[in-house]
Amino acid sequence: MLQNMMAVCFRLLLLLLLFLAAAVSAMDAVTEAWANRVIPLPKQINVAGSRVLSKDEITLCPTDSEDGRIATAIETVQPFAGGDQGFTIKLILTHDRKNCPAKLAKALAKLANRDQAYAIEPVMTSGAFSGFLLVANEPLGLLYAARTLHQLLTPSLNHRHIEIPQVTIVDWPDLEERGEWGWNLSHDRYSIAELKMNEVEMHATLGFQADGSPSATLDRAFLSESKRLGVKVVPIIRHLEQLAVTGLFTYHPNTAATPEPNKPLPSDYQPAVCFSNPASIDLIAGWMSQLLAYEEVHDINAWLAESPSPCFCELCRGHNSFELQTKSLLRAFAMAGADHPDAHLRILLSQASYRDNDRVLASITPGTRITYYSGQTTYDSSHEPMIYPLLESFARSGQWLSVYPQLTNSWRTVFPFTGPHFIKARMTEFVEKGLHGFSGYATPANGYYDFNIAAAAEWSWNSSGRSARQFAEAYATRLGLKQPRLFAEWADLIGRTGWHLAGSRTVESLIFAAGGQVFIDGFIEDGELFSTEKPIEYGKGILAEFPNEASLDHHLASAQQALELAQRADEPLMLLESRCVLHTLLFVKELESVVDVFQQPLSAARTKTIQQQLDAVDVTAQNLTAAMIGWGNLVHPVEQEALHYRFRDSVDFAATIAGRLRTWAEECQIVDPLPAYRFHRIASWQTEDFAETADLALWADITEHVQQAGAYDIRLFFLNGASGVDTRAVTLLCGPTKESAQPVFVDRWDGRLSRYGRYLEYWLTIPEKPNNLAHALDRYFIKAELSGPALNLPQPRRTSQGELLIRKSWRDAKVNRSIH
Ligand SMILES: [Zn+2]
Repeated sequence: MLQNMMAVCFRLLLLLLLFLAAAVSAMDAVTEAWANRVIPLPKQINVAGSRVLSKDEITLCPTDSEDGRIATAIETVQPFAGGDQGFTIKLILTHDRKNCPAKLAKALAKLANRDQAYAIEPVMTSGAFSGFLLVANEPLGLLYAARTLHQLLTPSLNHRHIEIPQVTIVDWPDLEERGEWGWNLSHDRYSIAELKMNEVEMHATLGFQADGSPSATLDRAFLSESKRLGVKVVPIIRHLEQLAVTGLFTYHPNTAATPEPNKPLPSDYQPAVCFSNPASIDLIAGWMSQLLAYEEVHDINAWLAESPSPCFCELCRGHNSFELQTKSLLRAFAMAGADHPDAHLRILLSQASYRDNDRVLASITPGTRITYYSGQTTYDSSHEPMIYPLLESFARSGQWLSVYPQLTNSWRTVFPFTGPHFIKARMTEFVEKGLHGFSGYATPANGYYDFNIAAAAEWSWNSSGRSARQFAEAYATRLGLKQPRLFAEWADLIGRTGWHLAGSRTVESLIFAAGGQVFIDGFIEDGELFSTEKPIEYGKGILAEFPNEASLDHHLASAQQALELAQRADEPLMLLESRCVLHTLLFVKELESVVDVFQQPLSAARTKTIQQQLDAVDVTAQNLTAAMIGWGNLVHPVEQEALHYRFRDSVDFAATIAGRLRTWAEECQIVDPLPAYRFHRIASWQTEDFAETADLALWADITEHVQQAGAYDIRLFFLNGASGVDTRAVTLLCGPTKESAQPVFVDRWDGRLSRYGRYLEYWLTIPEKPNNLAHALDRYFIKAELSGPALNLPQPRRTSQGELLIRKSWRDAKVNRSIH
């Protein structure tokens, strides 16, 4: 009895404690409403009312400093402070003992990542709220205090009066380094800096002077501007088997690796590097030393080879290639970094080093930093955790570990993915396992993935703050959407479904399949994703995260529900993403089903079913294509020529797969109702075309293929050969003959076709033809410009074959209202 009573008391006590804990962690409604303006959520924030002032009643009292980040902090707050007395915002560094309250200096001194920590404290004069102290240990922290204040006040920016919350904040990040590596950083660094992300990694320009001495440069203006924004720049030394592009073997042919004897070289072969040759190490040391000479550079990230690329010379043979690479980098850095005691070498792991990562970790010296990358396992958006036991124990032992996670549907796709649960899981894992940072990958530009980037900023700073829904509401508030709660409800639905789609690599795999390729264990190979003999199975491959049809149907229903919320919200952003997700799920369901029917024995019923299902696939492909182009143009509008090939592929894959299925149907005499929408061969290139030149212009008369005005695709496809080709442009011309035809449209951008990516699609628009007799005899031509193997390559390597194809596109199709 007594025992029972004690147990009851214990439970009551536990409940009381839980209640108190919840009450402490939960924000009051006023604070929460204000905090919704701030991303990332500050660790400690409390708002006790507010005051309304005009700008000329607010004054800024800056701290005395030469540091560019403090200048940025001042610029950040200045728009709200137009007066020279009254309500005063004071910027103070903790070492300024005269002005900094001891209590704040003490509180900030002990925080994690103290260089970034800051406090905002209201100043009370005779009981009235009369100003702010913005306090930090270091300039970066002060900049962060200013950024937080800026976000709190932004909705008042264009008003005469500003509502100022009486806010108390103490804040610091969970992860020391929150960054990105990628391609659009000169633009994207501004928006990520506002979210308190603090690192970017970018390729250094590596090469050689005329005398063969190494040359490594970075853009000075980029470096100084990044520093001013509070963003650290880490230069990259590219994958070590890809140094041929630097001119290494032109100047130093003796550093080239010896290829495997008696094995034919693959197409586009370039030698790797022999690391037993001391010259290789000297040259890399030369690059490193020039990079460390930039005052803004403290770390260099050297990337291990990402494909197996051993050297078979006498000295290298029998040694582990990744151990050799690691030891070479350490030796080079020891030479280059001798005068830079604060500098750090980072070594990037890869899918090729994956099995030897234990050897790499065992080879490094103290202070060497490791970044985990693998084309298969960090460019992964599945529900699996990312940091595996070897690396987890490395990080937990206090050593410095970062990671290159993709923050999107897939590195290969440009597909909408509002994924709060996904990003929260990733960032929480990194924080819990003791990582020091991450450099996210979101190609080709953050504009396509604004939500996930902001989410990464949120949970890498404050991993146990907001829930997925709470963050989505804050995001929508900051974006100024009309109904943030509705957006949060939508993000909760589309985020869960989008994560399953991303985790199954559905779109990524279908893009590879559109070129007759597969992506396995981080490597691109020729192969079939599915065929008349190879079914698509639930729980595997492109349905990996959909264990059965019921699960796919559940997500279809969620996507449908998300679409309905989007219609209620009347936000194009939500509508288009919902459609892309819904139509992709429908597409993959129909694909699974029709491939399944193709496996059945021949019968009239089978033929009829195939016919009906192919028609359905066409409708879905059409809707998906139209939704994808609509979404891309909305979230990241750029000129057509600036559209990345991965976006083009993401728009076009469904039409290609639908066309592939139609070719299977020919044998059961199913008439294709939409032949214009399938590829037709219009030209080709052969090895002989490059006999005397590397540059080639391929012409084709396409008049019979373009009977209707509108959008068309010109596909360039690499069939085989030892050399891929560079593509430059496809031009549409019109006139009575090829010689007299005038250009009417050009899609000009540089691409590369090879065994790593067999196709590219150039986009054309055929104008409405004038109803004019003078033009009746006009014909349409296309000219495709490409460059094949260089003339100085040995003859056996100068082989290349490929073809050009045309089809009408669904990009300008209206979404089929009969479906949605
Ligand atoms: Zn060697």
